[in-house]
Amino acid sequence: MSAQHFELVIIGAGPGGYVAAIRAAQLGLQVACIEKEAALGGTCLRVGCIPSKALLESSEHYHKAQGELARHGVVGALTQGVAGLFKKNKVVRLQGLGALLAKTESGWRIGVTAADGTQTEVTAGKVLIATGSEVTPLRGVELDGDRIGTSTEALKYPSVPQHLVVIGAGVIGLELGSVWQRLGAKVTVLEYLPRILPGLDAEIAALAQKVLAKQGLQFQLGVQVTGARVTGETCTVTYTSGEETKELSCDRVLLAVGRRPFTQGLGLENAGVALDSRGRIAVDGHFATNVAGLYAVGDVIAGPMLAHKAEEEGIACVEHMVTGWGHVDYDAIPGIVYTDPEIASVGKSEEELKAAGIPYRKGTFPFIANGRARALNSTDGMVKILAHAETDRVLGCAILGPRAGDLIAEVAVAMAFGASSEDIGRACHAHPTLAEVVKEAALAVDGRAIHM
Ligand code: NAD
Repeated sequence: MSAQHFELVIIGAGPGGYVAAIRAAQLGLQVACIEKEAALGGTCLRVGCIPSKALLESSEHYHKAQGELARHGVVGALTQGVAGLFKKNKVVRLQGLGALLAKTESGWRIGVTAADGTQTEVTAGKVLIATGSEVTPLRGVELDGDRIGTSTEALKYPSVPQHLVVIGAGVIGLELGSVWQRLGAKVTVLEYLPRILPGLDAEIAALAQKVLAKQGLQFQLGVQVTGARVTGETCTVTYTSGEETKELSCDRVLLAVGRRPFTQGLGLENAGVALDSRGRIAVDGHFATNVAGLYAVGDVIAGPMLAHKAEEEGIACVEHMVTGWGHVDYDAIPGIVYTDPEIASVGKSEEELKAAGIPYRKGTFPFIANGRARALNSTDGMVKILAHAETDRVLGCAILGPRAGDLIAEVAVAMAFGASSEDIGRACHAHPTLAEVVKEAALAVDGRAIHM
């Protein structure tokens, strides 16, 4: 029997892959999506964004934490939701590990190895790789899948750690570190750089560090972790601080020093797919690799490792395949850190504008001067808007404050439409809302905030 043929086969059903599959089906392509895990949705839905946000919400309501934690069924519901969407859109789901076998005259032969070892084969005119990323290991840190673990383990510690050491003050370290700190753990964050959240606007990062430290998170910055090992129930973390080598004892370690593209077993070498200097799949502006018929989106290519960035790329990639059009606006991709309060940003930071020699004006407005924030009793933080000094076009925004992740959407849309800070400042914002802080920060660019 000849192998089943599809116009497009997508390998990976994370946010990049499953969204691309649905969009491609909407555009009329015959699509199959290969996924090695039983649940669809990728790291994001299974062991990443969604479960960690459920945990963040639960830990914010500490007094009812036990009841809320039991409600994590939300994740199961969402992964089943993706399966339902596949069915509705007639996307064929193939369960197993996908691998490129050989180029054919009309496309590719792709192998699918199921968990029980059964092998099947399909063929496709085009293949989209959306296999995501995995945790970057750190030499000397002996992951044991229990006491010394990654975000996957930190989502389900059986009890609140007495002392959790977090390696890396990036997004994962701060989100999960603050969860366990809120639930009662002593949490020490060890960070190599002299600041937290590299890449984020430095003023907002410094403010965030102050707020998180006030909540009880302990930071040691400018230290390099060189090892972690476990003996019985005690973990020992070794790190260097200047010339000195130091040790910390704790009962759990969370390694969060970044993620790297996951392409193992895909057969990229046989296919001759070119990688960039950092091991990511090299693609052109339309997500095509150097090999005809092979495309890649999401964490396996360059750019921020964010679910929504992967989704946009997946959609742009298949739209371009079918219509000849498809575009991602990389200047307006928001990033959010789900601490409490949240931290969000879009566009350029002040440091990036300075480094690029772009003249800018800046407007800030604090949440303490906003009625809604006061009613919520969440007044830490501010909105900062950066606009071009001559054209007033909004170039960047960073927010620390309540619901920052929702507030940043307004600025991302404004930036996508090429708005000026005056456009945001002149738009009517309902009262009393947190969004008024965004409006006031936009007005502050021109020195005319009303409530400050
Ligand atoms: P990250 O890149 O955000 O941060 C890693 C941190 O570890 C950096 O600050 C780095 O300087 C530090 N570090 C590196 N080596 C070190 C060492 N030897 N000792 C001490 N510190 C060291 O990585 P992450 O937090 O692991 O997250 C991985 C990826 O997942 C990121 O790309 C992130 O954007 C993404 N993610 C996003 C979200 C979100 O959008 N809310 C949530 C989770 C993960």
